[in-house]
Amino acid sequence: MLVSMKEMLEDARKNHYALPAFDVSNYEMMKAVLEACEEERSPALLMGLGVDLGGKGLDLITSMVKEASRFFSVPVCFHLDHATDFEFIKAAAKAGFSSVMYDGSVLPFEENAKNTAEIVKFAHSKGITVEAELGHVGNAMVGNEGDSVMNEDPEDTLTLPDEVARFVEITDVDALAIAIGTAHGVYKKTPTLRIDRLDEITAVCDRPLVLHGGSGTPDDQMKAAIRHGITKINIYSDVVGAMNSALLNKLKSIQNPSTWPAFVFEDARVQMKEVVKSKLRTFGSSGRI
Ligand SMILES: [Zn+2]
Repeated sequence: MLVSMKEMLEDARKNHYALPAFDVSNYEMMKAVLEACEEERSPALLMGLGVDLGGKGLDLITSMVKEASRFFSVPVCFHLDHATDFEFIKAAAKAGFSSVMYDGSVLPFEENAKNTAEIVKFAHSKGITVEAELGHVGNAMVGNEGDSVMNEDPEDTLTLPDEVARFVEITDVDALAIAIGTAHGVYKKTPTLRIDRLDEITAVCDRPLVLHGGSGTPDDQMKAAIRHGITKINIYSDVVGAMNSALLNKLKSIQNPSTWPAFVFEDARVQMKEVVKSKLRTFGSSGRI
């Protein structure tokens, strides 16, 4: 059975560690994350991405994760990442997601707060947790080759501490994603997190704080962010990068196009699990179950 994110994040907040949250796009990624969490005795926080959830994808991926959770003894949460549409959130709740993110971060404050409050009301009536975003985490290199490369300066869209307490009061949101200098995707240059800004936010916010764009951020900066109040860190590029690199190497070495996928994915599986385990250990969620 899937659980909501609430207890997971509250325990992390109380005990000063963070949970890595992994977007899973297919069976192999899901399996790697669940097995690594089980072996490390960590709560498992998996996320679904809109790009994978079109058409029947929503029901199929949700059913897969929901059923799979029965075969693991650690708690499993399935969280919808970056939804911008209330109707889609309703469909995701119906499909079985136990937690959702509503991302109104490009909207003006009042509109973001109003939409988030409505979604929180709906989600709480179904026992589902909600994460929202205040400030805006932009994109480095994401998606397909040649896609969006961030030109804007992340400093321009940092979360404003003055807005945080009011946002929480209006929305009653369960977790808040903030912008303190990270970006989604693969960085062109190493980010520098604004820990000073994080401290100002932590001082006025009584909800768990979330960092997006965790992939490629140096471990020492992640650890500092956790010490200063971050309790969930989203990871995608590091895991998908491990999978794709291993597949590229493997496919170059085989001659027969009808080679079994079980063999083609062999190294990808091992390398994804290594990445997942290293995040669980670095963020301190290993051994919590
Ligand atoms: Zn994100």
